[in-house]
Amino acid sequence: MNKVLIIGGGVIGLSIARELKKKGISDITILERGAVGKEASFAAGGMLAPYSETNKFDDFFHFCEESLHLYPNFSEKLFEETGVDIELDKAGTLLLAFNEQDISEINHRYEWQKKAGLAVEKLSATDVHKLEPFVSPDVLAGLFFPNDWQVENRKLVEALHKFCELNEIKVIENTEISKLLTENGKVIGAESKTDKFFADKVILATGAWTSLIQTEVVSLPKVKPIRGQMIEFRTAKRLFSKVIYSTSGYLIPRQNGRILIGATSEDAGFDRNLTEIGTEILRSVALEIAPSLMNLEISEKWLGFRPFAADGLPILGEIAENLFIATAHYRNGILLAPITAEILAERVVNKTNSRYFETFSHKRFQAKVVR
Ligand SMILES: Cc1cc2nc3c(=O)[nH]c(=O)nc-3n(C[C@H](O)[C@H](O)[C@H](O)COP(=O)(O)OP(=O)(O)OC[C@H]3O[C@@H](n4cnc5c(N)ncnc54)[C@H](O)[C@@H]3O)c2cc1C
Repeated sequence: MNKVLIIGGGVIGLSIARELKKKGISDITILERGAVGKEASFAAGGMLAPYSETNKFDDFFHFCEESLHLYPNFSEKLFEETGVDIELDKAGTLLLAFNEQDISEINHRYEWQKKAGLAVEKLSATDVHKLEPFVSPDVLAGLFFPNDWQVENRKLVEALHKFCELNEIKVIENTEISKLLTENGKVIGAESKTDKFFADKVILATGAWTSLIQTEVVSLPKVKPIRGQMIEFRTAKRLFSKVIYSTSGYLIPRQNGRILIGATSEDAGFDRNLTEIGTEILRSVALEIAPSLMNLEISEKWLGFRPFAADGLPILGEIAENLFIATAHYRNGILLAPITAEILAERVVNKTNSRYFETFSHKRFQAKVVR
């Protein structure tokens, strides 16, 4: 096996390409309908946060945690390989309470996480202000998750793209695959309106667009877009050191003074129009966390399409002969890119199994026989 096609050049497709290259695959092509890394992977917040939203241990939590642990090495190696610093920031994450209901929510999370042996700290309002002086005076209490980090996801896709350029991974942009090519029930390539691409193995890393591809070999799982809008403020100096959640949204401070506020969650198809109501909701999230942002102009607004399967979990594995899938990472695709790339490339190159292929199999959506 020497020729691999990856359809989709987001963080998932790019990370898999890098991992395949490192495992010795010489002929890798990424086919991208637009420009590489400009969809969900560009729009994201870049939070690497398995802990702040967790109230239970399950395979998904362990998958997220394992991927988080890969990040320090992933970030260091990408810097050595490309010279691009993806700004892995380990300052941690705060979750703030502004009313009684928030307090009962964070208390519940704290009790559960403490019992489970996770690293979480309870903070008074005074503690919160010591850590983040620009947080609202109305804050009542908070939790600190030292192991929830962030990364600059736009730099991440830039680094991965550069890795491809430096390592002879072909990237073909403005090429939309409509159909998989098959022969005797096996996948042998993919087809755009104008071209055919042949390969030994094909990997679908097509994010929210996965269900639009036609194929006879397998019934592709349903993945739909969940739109997320974000806004941004800019300050000359960095005002916050940590990612800060309230129960209605989050604030992400970048090294260069950008302050990202996210995010809406909308079932609106592939509609690319930013909405006034979306902006208003995000502005109110920002002002609840830090009213001092009131007089700042919004410097940028954008949206992206989170790839969502019916149960909110990823879809991973080998789904037909020569055909692999890595999609539906929904709200955690930046966090999950390193582990997804590792297990998928292992599968493609060495046929190695992973328990996660069972948990995240496409078969979980197939009809079950009931009596
Ligand atoms: C507002 C927002 C905030 C988020 N915040 C976070 C966060 O803080 N942390 C986190 O971990 N995750 C976050 N996410 C989720 C994360 O962005 C996604 O899970 C992740 O980017 C998915 O990566 P992907 O490569 O599968 O998808 P994408 O980045 O969308 O890439 C898929 C690519 O495939 C291409 N493609 C699709 N179909 C075809 C075709 N037929 N032919 C050729 N190319 C095709 C597309 O053009 C696209 O470039 C956020 C998402 C949004 C929208």
